[in-house]
Formats: sequence, structure tokens, C-alpha cells
Amino acid sequence: MSQEELQETISQIRDTVFKVCEEFSGEYWREKDRERKYPTEFVTRLTELGLLASLIPEEYGGSGLPITVGSETLKAIHEFGGNAAACHAQMYTMGTVLRHGSEEQKKKYLPQIASGDLRLQAFGVTEPTAGTDTTSITTMAVKDGDKYIVNGQKIWTSRAEHSDLMVLLARTTPKDEVKKKSDGLSVFLIDMRDALKNGMTINPIRTMLNHATTEVFFDNVPIPADSLIGEEGKGFKYILSGMNAERILIAAECVGDARWFIKKASDYASEREVFGRPIGRNQGIQFPIARAFAQTEAAEAVLDKACRLYESGDTSGTYANMAKLLTSEASWAAADTCMQTFGGFAVAEEYDVERKFREARLYQIAPISTNLILSYLAERELGLPRSY
Ligand SMILES: Cc1cc2nc3c(=O)[nH]c(=O)nc-3n(C[C@H](O)[C@H](O)[C@H](O)COP(=O)(O)OP(=O)(O)OC[C@H]3O[C@@H](n4cnc5c(N)ncnc54)[C@H](O)[C@@H]3O)c2cc1C
Repeated sequence: MSQEELQETISQIRDTVFKVCEEFSGEYWREKDRERKYPTEFVTRLTELGLLASLIPEEYGGSGLPITVGSETLKAIHEFGGNAAACHAQMYTMGTVLRHGSEEQKKKYLPQIASGDLRLQAFGVTEPTAGTDTTSITTMAVKDGDKYIVNGQKIWTSRAEHSDLMVLLARTTPKDEVKKKSDGLSVFLIDMRDALKNGMTINPIRTMLNHATTEVFFDNVPIPADSLIGEEGKGFKYILSGMNAERILIAAECVGDARWFIKKASDYASEREVFGRPIGRNQGIQFPIARAFAQTEAAEAVLDKACRLYESGDTSGTYANMAKLLTSEASWAAADTCMQTFGGFAVAEEYDVERKFREARLYQIAPISTNLILSYLAERELGLPRSY
């Protein structure tokens, strides 16, 4: 795709997203947030328009577009006040199947994921006792003839109640029986509709934001042996290979959030008059907004580079991680500035600032926390000793 074609595609997608977002105004998001309800109608609209299938190759029914386009799609949703966290995983979780699945698995699942007939937006990695230390997970999948039997618990498995399939990371060999702690972990693509009838339980977790996140329990859950993706014991590598895409796409959402806050703050600062003049005339109000703007533009430039590297086949996580770090800090700076600009009105539900403020804070914690990105950079880029 030439640069011109890419720009044309991005501009068409932004127009489409904008139209969808106009159908789903602030009141729609406020109501979902208040009741912690899933934005099914919004996700259905995006699915119908094929916007969540952009990264699936054309041969499997998707549009085969580069990650820059996926990133611009999610960015636009956030820029216009929506929240793509409800469905961003439908865009990238399939990457595990695409990169490491067999041809049979790809043919079976990808076209249905592309059409939206199958929802693959649950990603079961994190566990309560292991936390960030993924190799310490204890959920076990034990081979038994033509099945595996799964036992264990996942936490923060987002959208599990709104997904048909789940990419699950489990141990197939206990940690104390492997040479390298990252060995003995395997990835499965499980059909949750069957698992729910056979010992899997999903409990929603109420959180400070509307994120449809859950804990999932596996009690002797049988799954077919052909749910295994790639080679048994090599799952950690497969999971890592999907993380750059996830970080890039979430970084794009952070840029969208930052832009939403900056616009909201600038508009309000120009309109709101106190002491007989707009508050935006005070440099104490305008400078933080200008700083957030500069910070966002800089972070977006790093994100653009991360996209280009990803598209060129570069598998190093440096730029994807830096993009996630910098954009999440920029969106948080913009969120805080917007809050301060709105004064008391910031905490009133009707302006959406407090809702977006809660949503924006998440991205310094998930899908990876800021500290772990800094550790990665310190170790990989600067040659500093590993801290864990
Ligand atoms: C709303 C939400 C949705 C999520 N969705 C999913 C999902 O769909 N699927 C999934 O698998 N997971 C999901 N997660 C989990 C998310 O990826 C983790 O919360 C995140 O990786 C941090 O892990 P933790 O919460 O266990 O923190 P911990 O690992 O307990 O860490 C707590 C704090 O200690 C710091 N810390 C830990 N070790 C070190 C160290 N060595 N050096 C410096 N600091 C350190 C961390 O940075 C963090 O600030 C979600 C989480 C949330 C909150």
C-alpha cells in the first residue's frame, strides 16, 4: 500500500468511526458506565462495518490492513469520546492463531472471527498469585487421551462474558520440572461456550471503570487436544509475540484519549468566564493544556515509529513499549489538566470528564504496568542488571 493509499484509507476510516461515534453519544456511554453494562450496540456496529477485522489477512476474510490503520481506528474512537476497550481485543487476540496456529485452525476460526460470528476477545493470562510474573502461573492443563483437563484460576480476564473463544495460557509442565521457567507453558484456543457447560465459571469484578473484567475458574474442564496452538511447552514465546501489537493499539487509544481531554479542556477554557474573562486567558490554565498537547504529539511520534517497525517485521518490543509508556503518561497528564480546567464541574457526571479520567488511568497499570516497561528498557536498551 502506498503512502497516499494509506492516508486515504485512514481518512475514510476516521470518517466512518466519527459517524458511528455520533450515533453513540456521551449519554450512551454514561448510562453504560452507571450500570456497568457492556456496550453491545456499539461493538455490533463496529463489527458490522468490518472495523474490528482490519488486521486479519484477506485470505481469511479480513481486510489485511497494516497496524497503522488498526491503530488509527482505535485512536479515533477515543478521540471522539468512546471507549474501544470493550472490543479492541477482537482486533488483535486473533494474532496468536494467525502467527502460531495450524492452517486448519486458521481456516476454521479466522473467517468467523472476521465476520464477527465468533468473538475472540478473552485473553486468560494473568493469575491472582502470579501477577506480573507470568511464568509463575499455576493453572494446569494435563493431557488425557484426546483431551486436556484444565484446573486453575485466572483474574482480570476482560470481556470473558462477551466472547465465544478464549486464548488461554496454562502450564503443561510444572515450573519445578522445567529447565527454563518460561518452558512448559502452553497456549490453547478454547471454546468457552463448551467450557461453561463443563466446569468453567466466570465471575464479573466490579471496578472503578466500566471494563467488563472478570475472574475465571477452571474446575476439571476438559478441552479437546486440538485446542493447543503451536507446540506444547512453547506458549510463553507465543504470548510474548502478541504483546507488541497489543501495546501499539492501546497506545493509540491513549493518544485518542489525550486528544479528547485536550479539546474538552481548550473549549471549556475559552468559554468559561470567571472574574469577567475566559479562564483560558490565565497562563496557569493554558500552559498545562499546551504542555499536554506537546507531550501527546511527541508520544504519538514514537507510536508512529512503533507502527512502522512492527509493519517492517521488527519483533523487538522497545518502541511498542515506549509508545505505551509515553502515550499513557500523556493521556494521564491531559486527563489531570482537563480535570483542573473544569474545576468543580469536572466531577459532575454529565461532562464525561470524570468517566474518561477513570478510564485513562488504567493504562499505566494494564496491559502492562509502567514499572515493567521501564525495567524492560533499562535491561534491554541500557544493559542494566535485571531487577527480577
Ligand atoms: C481492568 C483490567 C483489565 C485487565 N485485562 C486483562 C486481560 O484481559 N487478560 C489478562 O491476562 N490480564 C488482564 N489484566 C491484568 C494486567 O495485565 C495486570 O493487572 C498488570 O499486568 C499488572 O499485574 P498485577 O495487577 O498482578 O500487578 P502486580 O504484578 O501485583 O504488581 C503490582 C505493582 O508492583 C509493580 N511491580 C511488580 N514487580 C515489579 C518489579 N520487578 N519491578 C518494579 N515494579 C514491580 C508493578 O509495576 C505494579 O505497579 C487486566 C488488569 C486490569 C486492572
